[in-house]
Amino acid sequence: MGKIIAIANQKGGVGKTTTSVNLSACLAHIGKKVLLIDSDPQGNATSGVGINKGDVQDCIYSILIDDVPVKDVILQTEIENLEIIPATISLAGAEIELVSTISREVRMKHAIQDIKDQYDYIIIDCPPSLGLLTLNALTASDSIIIPVQCEYYALEGLSQLLSTVRLVQKHLNDSLYIDGVLLTMFDARTNLGIQVIEEVKKYFQDKVYRTIIPRNVRLSEAPSHGKPIIMYDSRSKGAEVYLELAKEVVENE
Ligand code: ADP
Ligand code: MG
Repeated sequence: MGKIIAIANQKGGVGKTTTSVNLSACLAHIGKKVLLIDSDPQGNATSGVGINKGDVQDCIYSILIDDVPVKDVILQTEIENLEIIPATISLAGAEIELVSTISREVRMKHAIQDIKDQYDYIIIDCPPSLGLLTLNALTASDSIIIPVQCEYYALEGLSQLLSTVRLVQKHLNDSLYIDGVLLTMFDARTNLGIQVIEEVKKYFQDKVYRTIIPRNVRLSEAPSHGKPIIMYDSRSKGAEVYLELAKEVVENE
């Protein structure tokens, strides 16, 4: 038990953090025990669940670089069933510092091995690069969710991501698989969005989630209130679709 899912795409602004925060909160909402790992130095997932980064002592950096035990870093969020390993800006140094570290790609995997079974889901929010932080996340994970923004150049960069996934499968984690591609920020008013959906479905076929995340202003407002969408506005379209995604993720197992 305890499924680990990396939310990854080296492109910035495609909805990784929004998906990490809201999928985690929605899984917690339907009764799953969830750990969110913020693996992006920007720490937006951390503040997105209401943690003040200024108050954080140890973060994922301490686990990866200083071998601080995971249990000393986990924080409870205001959301029932949802805990977090936060990130702070100190993590920015980890990408470089990891280079010269023993077993640099498997540090996250080893660190969370012992706590894995305490959760139904562990969701890892990856940074916008294919560096060592993302490699650590993919090596530690059972599967990967790839958010793809319904915009021009949606597929750009995905071949690079897929070849990284194949390299990880070959050398570091042979059981890693693609859970699904998640279409985000869809705007039904434009033809472009519809074209992108068709294009992505042609490429990824049944790997595309049935749930499509529309552009929803409430989703973009929620982080500044430090709340996942189901707490910020439970009746919004954003809350509805992320709850639907959570159910689809559970169903897919
Ligand atoms: P990433 O983590 O991939 O860089 P984010 O999740 O931070 O992407 O999203 C980028 C920006 O787009 C953020 O300001 C976020 O609030 C906004 N955003 C994400 N998803 C949606 C959506 N479905 N509707 C409206 N705004 C969104
Ligand atoms: Mg992000």
